[in-house]
Amino acid sequence: MFDKFNRRIHYLRISVTDRCNLRCVYCMPKEGVRLVRHEDILSFEEILDVARTAVALGVDKVRLTGGEPLVRRDVVTLVRMLAGVDGIRDLAMTTNGILLGRYAAPLADAGLDRVNISLDTLDAQRYAALTRGGDLARVFEGIDAAQAAGLEPIKLNCVVAESSAEPDAQDVAAFARRRGFAARFIRRMDLLCGTFWPVEGGSGGDCPRCNRLRLSSEGTVYPCLFSDIGFSVRELGPEEALRRAVQHKPASGQTSRNRFHAVGG
Ligand code: SAM
Repeated sequence: MFDKFNRRIHYLRISVTDRCNLRCVYCMPKEGVRLVRHEDILSFEEILDVARTAVALGVDKVRLTGGEPLVRRDVVTLVRMLAGVDGIRDLAMTTNGILLGRYAAPLADAGLDRVNISLDTLDAQRYAALTRGGDLARVFEGIDAAQAAGLEPIKLNCVVAESSAEPDAQDVAAFARRRGFAARFIRRMDLLCGTFWPVEGGSGGDCPRCNRLRLSSEGTVYPCLFSDIGFSVRELGPEEALRRAVQHKPASGQTSRNRFHAVGG
């Protein structure tokens, strides 16, 4: 699919849940957020239907995200279903890694190709403060398990205040080099204010080259993280929702009332 700015749209990011087992300070308020009701969350069959339709329209890259994708019950089954869709050449997941120790091997077995793991610091205390209670040791266990399971290339997503020159980011970069991982540095964004930058070492945030659509956990296809325009797959059906999202993809991001946990970051 091509949008009206002649960008080829072939990457679908699927938020499988708005729930998360961390409360990162830049993502969610301390008290958490109003959650989507269970019955409003897309079923695996509905997600599969959207993915199949998207592939028929030219999507060949799919990423599962959230919330935290690994807190969605039975997510391994969903991965297996998606891995069976002919035409997805890259099936990936973005995760905070807390549950990867348990899930990496089953995910690889189900057909997941690779993972991006969020890691902002190597310091356990700062990690706990940043994530409001996260246990960094579990992330390292998750990283080891992902590598052992062959979920590679492993990429580390590191959120920075200003740049990768910050000490925590430098530590993450050195760790990535030692272990043979790629590191991507994402400047803290503000959806409401519309402040965002191209991701260092990655492809996000670069509007002229954007190739993405996002499916939220309750079934809205968003053409842009920094826009509130969205099309419901339940109201319109997957094909019409996907086509309209492509047609309405803005030239560049503006602002959005959505939050990262809802649209999948
Ligand atoms: N829970 C998963 C994880 O932590 O990777 C997937 C969802 S999370 C919303 C996806 C990515 O968005 C993470 O790397 C997270 O650090 C990043 N993120 C969240 N809020 C952000 C913000 N305000 N600015 C930049 N990146 C942000």
